[in-house]
Amino acid sequence: MKHPESLPSLVFTDAAGNINDFPELGMTGMSGSHFLPPELNDLIPLPEGSELFTMPGRLPVGWDFGSREPVLLTEHPWDEENKSINAVAAFIAPAHTSILTSSYQTQKDAPRLPLFAYTAVGWKDDQFWVPAFRSDKDVRQDFSQYNREDVERRTALKLKAHRDNRLIQHLGKCCLTYGCPAARNYFLERWEAPLPTSPVCNARCLGCISLQESGICSAQERITFVPTVRELCEIAIPHLKKAPNPVVSYGQGCEGEPLMQSAVLRESIIQMREATDLGTINLNSNASLPEKVKELAAVGLDSLRISLNSAQESCYNAYYRPKSYCFDDVKRSIDMMKDAGRFVSFNYFVIPGFTDSDEEFIALSNLVASHPPDFIQLRNLNIDPEWYFETVWGKPHSLSEGITPWLDKLKARFPELGFGYFNPNVHPTQKKKKYDKR
Ligand code: SF4
Repeated sequence: MKHPESLPSLVFTDAAGNINDFPELGMTGMSGSHFLPPELNDLIPLPEGSELFTMPGRLPVGWDFGSREPVLLTEHPWDEENKSINAVAAFIAPAHTSILTSSYQTQKDAPRLPLFAYTAVGWKDDQFWVPAFRSDKDVRQDFSQYNREDVERRTALKLKAHRDNRLIQHLGKCCLTYGCPAARNYFLERWEAPLPTSPVCNARCLGCISLQESGICSAQERITFVPTVRELCEIAIPHLKKAPNPVVSYGQGCEGEPLMQSAVLRESIIQMREATDLGTINLNSNASLPEKVKELAAVGLDSLRISLNSAQESCYNAYYRPKSYCFDDVKRSIDMMKDAGRFVSFNYFVIPGFTDSDEEFIALSNLVASHPPDFIQLRNLNIDPEWYFETVWGKPHSLSEGITPWLDKLKARFPELGFGYFNPNVHPTQKKKKYDKR
């Protein structure tokens, strides 16, 4: 992977929202509340399919090459007419994990940021650079894999052919309105397809993208109905049978907790496995109901992906705000799947400064050692970082070791553990791959 020869420049947006670079200062990133210049080997060109955001009410922090200190840029360095500026952040493309968050000082009355992950960004050699790494070589959500006309044409065909399937109609909106890559792949009949099922949830996550209490808008509308077994199987069975590298996944961003609909899941899995043993039937979940997980594993659920912001119970509770379950239930769900010989992933929300802290590393290592998963998906946490640290951790903290050394240490500690970004296809009839070693 290409890296810059020296530190890229600071970038900022002017009053009109144009992005400018300021070579007098270098770029910095943040690890929690600490400002630091990224390591050159941690910098990669901005991946295709990423987006750039202006950060409202937030002034950029650069690196002073002379004093080797962070410095705040308070106004436009050359526009005498309009001095107001803001910081910039990158929302990096799927399959990439962030190493440092965007670097800024929040001004009084600045709005809370919407639910995205904000990665640091700089400019050099006519391109943007971000401190991040490709965490999965799978191309299933790569920008280059989608042709808009093709997506629209094939979606329209399926919507017309399945007017009476409410779930296919719902996925049509996910695909065409929200641009959901999983919904697109369903309509393109390949890779991982989504099976949202639940309008309700037994948690109240701080960063829930389908139902927000905090006043910031949720990223997408939550499904309003529970699909029937027929509607689910009409999607899943042809997909499992025909799609290349097929995975079908309950538990999507546009729903609550699928385990709340375990009876529908159980019956649909039975019918899917009666029809074919191809592909992977996966459940993305908060894993709150271990007895239901046991039932689903018994009828053919191949893999369970458990969403986790932290392995520290207090930080987990502060983020998930469970209504009727506890962290031990989550651990028991891991055991239920492993006792049934099934596959378990952690959908582990990475946020620099917290994830790579000593406390979190120790807690995660204890969890992996005592309730071993097969795989960890390194997902960026989509939330306002300051709001997260204030709410979940609520205390000042020293500079953490860094995401790159943290991951190296975790891999060295658990050489059997797989790492990536997406749900692997763990198809039972093919050579049962224990997991992918990255
Ligand atoms: S478990 Fe999922 S649906 Fe439930 S509150 Fe959390 S993010 Fe939202």
